[in-house]
Amino acid sequence: QFHMIKYEDLKWDESLGQGSFTRIYRGHKTDIRDGENYTTEVLLKELDAGHKNCWESFFESASLMSQISHKHLLLVYGVSVHGVQNIMVQEFVKYGALDLYLKRGRSVSVSWKLDVAKQLASALNFLEEKHIVHGNICAKNLLLAREGDQSQGISPFIKLSDPGIMVLDRIPWVAPEVLDAPDDLTLECDKWSFGATVWEIFNNGNSPLQGWDLDEKRQFYESFQKLPPSQWAELADLITQCMDYQAALRPSCRSIIRQLNSLITSGNDVRYTELQIIP
Ligand code: ATP
Ligand code: MG
Repeated sequence: QFHMIKYEDLKWDESLGQGSFTRIYRGHKTDIRDGENYTTEVLLKELDAGHKNCWESFFESASLMSQISHKHLLLVYGVSVHGVQNIMVQEFVKYGALDLYLKRGRSVSVSWKLDVAKQLASALNFLEEKHIVHGNICAKNLLLAREGDQSQGISPFIKLSDPGIMVLDRIPWVAPEVLDAPDDLTLECDKWSFGATVWEIFNNGNSPLQGWDLDEKRQFYESFQKLPPSQWAELADLITQCMDYQAALRPSCRSIIRQLNSLITSGNDVRYTELQIIP
């Protein structure tokens, strides 16, 4: 149900580090079309040998992503199996993960962040219409394909990657109800994660609840706590709606998009340029 890529057609370049269950490399893939060689830069994600039990989830997510297409969803070219190696072959995205990009201290404006939030909401809306749960939305899984340039009116451009392999201790991105019923992922779970991700973006990629241990994080959910609110009341309200402990009360994607649009047109851009959520 997904494209198999010959191991011989892959070329490995430098390591880009580790994921939750993976080792990540930049690389190239060669295709022969009409007798000509074509080379494409790719991202190679090799599943850790120690996590063979995640194999199914890994390939399910590869298969899912390769069947749908949206401009803000990362392209998955296919998978390659070579002996004990399981490799996912994805589109390589130039500026890497959004959290790292923001943490590197690139100063981006509020409208830049809003553009990113809107693009994520449009990807989420697409998935909602297809009744597909992503399950792993966070700034780390937003990849930056274009930096944008405000002086020239060019927006940033993001791609959402990696559905499916949310680790259960990923509080506060994982919706609270998922801790009780991990197999019961719903579209509402993604709304919660969206709220946490927007919080993260407006906090310049710094993780919510950074430095808390797992017990403290669990306690956070058990006592129905909320992340520190943004000073921007309308944004804080949207995040609160998404991160509602009652899943059924979380807004639809259409409502999220409508609210984000009204944030952009409210003319507060300059005043909030240095906006941060101080925990
Ligand atoms: P998870 O399943 O938790 O998302 P992962 O295996 O996807 O784990 P990440 O931590 O998301 O690993 O990614 C590790 C790093 O690899 C990111 O910080 C990012 O910089 C880089 N990266 C991941 N995917 C791509 C891609 N498609 N293009 C360019 N860089 C990428
Ligand atoms: Mg990832």
